[in-house]
Amino acid sequence: MARIVLKFGGTSVADLDRIRNVAARVAAEARAGHQIAVVVSAMSGVTNQLVGWCQALSPLHDAREYDAVVATGEQVTAGLLAIALQELGVEARSWQGWQLPIRTDTAHGKARIQSIEGGEIVRRMQAGQVAVVTGFQGIAEDHRITTLGRGGSDTSAVALAAALKAERCDIYTDVDGVYTTDPRIVPKARKLARIAYEEMLELASVGAKVLQTRSVELAMNERVRVRVLSSFTEAPASDDAGTLVVDEDEIVEKEIVAGIAYSRDEAKITVRRVPDRPGIAAAIFGALAAENVNVDMIVQNISDDSTTDMTFTVGRADLARTQAVLGSAQPQIGYRDLAIDADVAKISVVGVGMRSHAGVASTMFRTLADKAINIQVISTSEIKVSVLIAAEYTELAVRALHTAYGLDAA
Ligand code: ADP
Ligand code: ASP
Ligand code: MG
Repeated sequence: MARIVLKFGGTSVADLDRIRNVAARVAAEARAGHQIAVVVSAMSGVTNQLVGWCQALSPLHDAREYDAVVATGEQVTAGLLAIALQELGVEARSWQGWQLPIRTDTAHGKARIQSIEGGEIVRRMQAGQVAVVTGFQGIAEDHRITTLGRGGSDTSAVALAAALKAERCDIYTDVDGVYTTDPRIVPKARKLARIAYEEMLELASVGAKVLQTRSVELAMNERVRVRVLSSFTEAPASDDAGTLVVDEDEIVEKEIVAGIAYSRDEAKITVRRVPDRPGIAAAIFGALAAENVNVDMIVQNISDDSTTDMTFTVGRADLARTQAVLGSAQPQIGYRDLAIDADVAKISVVGVGMRSHAGVASTMFRTLADKAINIQVISTSEIKVSVLIAAEYTELAVRALHTAYGLDAA
């Protein structure tokens, strides 16, 4: 008998038939004698619609009200799954973030979980009741509902698994594991039986949507065993189904490049003709940080006179805010104008093997050059190389790189 957290993403609960399918899986685990907590996402498409409504009313809407709106998707699914479980004769109860509670900080729209009170659901799980918990949401100290950022139900699940000291956290989704790249754009992508926490963390942070970045960070710090698997295959899943996210030393065959990710969620901003003197970068990025805007890649071009251009990327969702912040800081910064390009994609190759192998970056640049794809910005870390390119070349670039690093399935 084990304590397990099962998480089901949007496509896994997309309609009532899918919810019945999830209920059957959960029922099977409960009947096998396990103590079960389930974390659910909103039904597929629902969160997008809720976000779209907020944006349509006001591009710079109040983040507290955004959270009040977008957290509702998960509430519906949790209640529906509890009903579906009860229909199968399984005792079940739904829980929203505030009811446990799942406490977060006050960074609305991208809140971080601070603690989870699991005592009550543990008592009920021990008595045979299944807890169905809303993903993606929590409650801040001012008692307002918060959300954890897109894809945040993964983080809810891992945090709950840590709080409940669960044996493992099974993340059910619409693919049967973590692949060398998104299998929806590269049919030759290979499924990985295991991936190191660090590689998964880096892949997630550069756009591999299969797990939210913060969920991997939490799993790594709290030693939660995470497995990614499909809710669309025959139940019950076999023990070796899916991909296990594990410590680096649990992986026998290490590749130099573990995977390739892309993100179309960024926008490039060039601040043109800023004075080339100390304090300008601090003025630009300080103003953005004060408004909670995360900046990713940054380049400063060489100047030939007393001015320069500063180029950087932000999340597309933060673009309107970025323009507003820079607009009002224009007098202090003293730039000429802004050039905005949202038609960009960031392509990244990731692997712990890069620490000890040279040539990964040059292979990337050569491969893109051979396809006549222009590189606009480059950034690197110890185990990652990222480039910014025109969005229209995303698929071409990812496929060519997947082949170039020898990742294609036989
Ligand atoms: P869920 O709704 O279950 O949370 P997501 O859409 O958030 O599902 O994440 C699953 C999707 O992640 C897959 O459908 C796939 O297109 C995408 N994906 C991106 N990169 C990868 C990868 N390396 N391996 C597997 N899936 C990936
Ligand atoms: N429903 C939320 C989203 O679509 C959270 C999640 O699915 O993980 O981003
Ligand atoms: Mg997801």
